Amino acid sequence: MLNERMVELGTQRSVIRELFEFGKMRAAEIGAENVFDFSIGNPSVPAPDAVNETAIKLIKEMDPVLLHGYTSAQGDAGVRQMIADSINRRFGTAFGADNLYVTVGAAAALCCCLNGLCNPQDEVIVFAPYFPEYKVFIEGAGASMTLIPADVEAFQIDFNAFEKALNPNTKAVIINSPNNPSGAVYSEETIKNLASMLTAKSEEYGHPIYLITDEPYREIVFGGTVVPYVPKYYKNTLVCYSWSKSLSLPGERMGYIVVPDEMDDHELVYAAIAGAGRSLGYVNAPGLFQRVCAMCADMTADTSVYETNKNLLMTGLRDLGFHVVEPGGTFYMFPRTLEEDDVAFCERAKEYNLLIVPGVGFGCPGHARVSYCVQTEMVKRSLDAFEKLAKSYR
Ligand code: PLP
Repeated sequence: MLNERMVELGTQRSVIRELFEFGKMRAAEIGAENVFDFSIGNPSVPAPDAVNETAIKLIKEMDPVLLHGYTSAQGDAGVRQMIADSINRRFGTAFGADNLYVTVGAAAALCCCLNGLCNPQDEVIVFAPYFPEYKVFIEGAGASMTLIPADVEAFQIDFNAFEKALNPNTKAVIINSPNNPSGAVYSEETIKNLASMLTAKSEEYGHPIYLITDEPYREIVFGGTVVPYVPKYYKNTLVCYSWSKSLSLPGERMGYIVVPDEMDDHELVYAAIAGAGRSLGYVNAPGLFQRVCAMCADMTADTSVYETNKNLLMTGLRDLGFHVVEPGGTFYMFPRTLEEDDVAFCERAKEYNLLIVPGVGFGCPGHARVSYCVQTEMVKRSLDAFEKLAKSYR
């Protein structure tokens, strides 16, 4: 008898994957230029040249036994110090190597945190709209997910609903800003309110409620939007970061966790994260790219095309009567669908070769995710198709 849940997870095709397959089929029928695939969140810009140059330099110049050898389970100490230095330069913090745990992307960072923190009765709060893998990760850690409905006016936090959901079993809260799928960035006011509510409730319940901040899109922001550095507002914060989007390196699987010294029992929490990494087999992230990412930690890919695409799409969609909350960052937007049933709406969009993802899978029906990490040319050409879709509802 196999683990039924794992069989289910391994065989279920995601809506996004279904759309991707549909897109390939349509492209073969009508030509790739006539299919507007806004389904996948795969960066469309190359990593900076410095990434490849650094990798080549390391391969040519570093002792190969060292380069390709095991590092410490939590990542090479020099690498962790370089990452800490980069964070400190940019956010005015004072982290050292011992505050960092290097992981295989944000996905592994989240799993290490959740498995390190959670016991079977624990609840983890997530705000809609949310990255659907959170449910898989939380349940995989033996805890349960509590979803707070979206604040659809601004995609900030509905604090009334949040306060009602908090209870003594709440172990952690996950936030994701800039957000996939809404593109929203939590304001400083939102982070301050969150911090004060978590502080009060932690005191009331007699145990810390951890704030896990998932930030693979931190550097992809528009028009000078500021993304508050969360550990400065709430001491029991774990930062889960990834270079998948900021350096356009999703296939290299590199990220890290920050465990601040100010956190209650920080040494124990770090040990629990390291223990989770060990039990999951998530030790020693790839050695070459640990070093490359550390050496390029102050850089980002040229992500300016995402802002160009955001402006074109948002203006185009609003002109057609769509309600769109302006994204502060990422390469996603989350317009309201023109009928309540977002699945039906996205099915209809397929008739115009527009591939967009229903909001229900992100815990926020009545919306659809448009991923604009695509060529600007395609965005321009797609506006005709969006117009036909909108007209079909008049
Ligand atoms: N969190 C969010 C919100 C994401 O959108 C993604 C990837 O798309 C991840 C985490 C996983 O990132 P990684 O590729 O670093 O595992």
